[in-house]
Amino acid sequence: MPEETLALAVLGHGLVDPDRPWLRVDDEAVLRGRAVFETLRVYAGRPFRLPAHLERLTRSARVLGLDAPDSLALTDLVGESLAQPHVGDAVLRVVWTAGADATRPVGFALVTALPEGLEQARTAGIELRSLQLAIGATARRASPWLLPGVKSTSYAVNIAAQTEARRRGADDALFLSLEGIVLEGPTSNVWFVEDGVLHTPALDLGILAGVTRDTLVDVAADARITVESGAYELDRLARATEVFTSSSIREVMPVVRLDGAAIADGRPGPVAAAMQTGLRAAAMA
Ligand code: PLP
Repeated sequence: MPEETLALAVLGHGLVDPDRPWLRVDDEAVLRGRAVFETLRVYAGRPFRLPAHLERLTRSARVLGLDAPDSLALTDLVGESLAQPHVGDAVLRVVWTAGADATRPVGFALVTALPEGLEQARTAGIELRSLQLAIGATARRASPWLLPGVKSTSYAVNIAAQTEARRRGADDALFLSLEGIVLEGPTSNVWFVEDGVLHTPALDLGILAGVTRDTLVDVAADARITVESGAYELDRLARATEVFTSSSIREVMPVVRLDGAAIADGRPGPVAAAMQTGLRAAAMA
């Protein structure tokens, strides 16, 4: 079920009625999936790390050859969309399209309710199913037209991977390169703990530079936990003492099973809990 819409603001129109259409059918976003987006979490009416998300939106737009979004105008638009008493904790999407004939871009900020069940999933932990991409990490990174690390709205492949993982009995997918190197989830970065050190796949594997990932690097430094990034094979995660994912909406999500087998004792661990606490503290600061 789609989450309840709390507010919609469109560049050039301000706050608008979300039940009315605001995109043309010949917008290239609709016809060819040529649009970029950001999803971020709103805590008590305030968007978390909006400037970092807008910078990434601009980088993604550049790779797709879209007009550059006006970050100041989008910041004001986000402010309008959130200036409502009923917006507390929510999901904010900022979308920038190629436009009709790729000349009339549309920018909008859509605020929806948080999905249900996040805290139950955090308490129980989730299961990941690894899915191998038919391309090597180096080839993927060397093929900018495959959009590695870009947040375009062409997320059908990512959503299909989640659907496949669920069909196989897991909660989410974990992408591996052709050589079996761990990359990321369809909508999250992944982490594991080994001998007290926190590891996460390196950005030069062509994964998305998660804003939450970036925040957790700081949280770990504050907690005096060493963070290393690199190229890891799946068995490192399978043998880890803890695995978790990070993303703006689901925050730190403990992974307790991988491909049908338990991680360690099959329960969420203390490092994931500490990272989640630190993330919330950063969000509420
Ligand atoms: N990796 C992918 C492919 C994603 O789509 C996302 C977020 O949707 C992330 C990682 C996590 O990024 P962030 O922490 O900025 O939400």
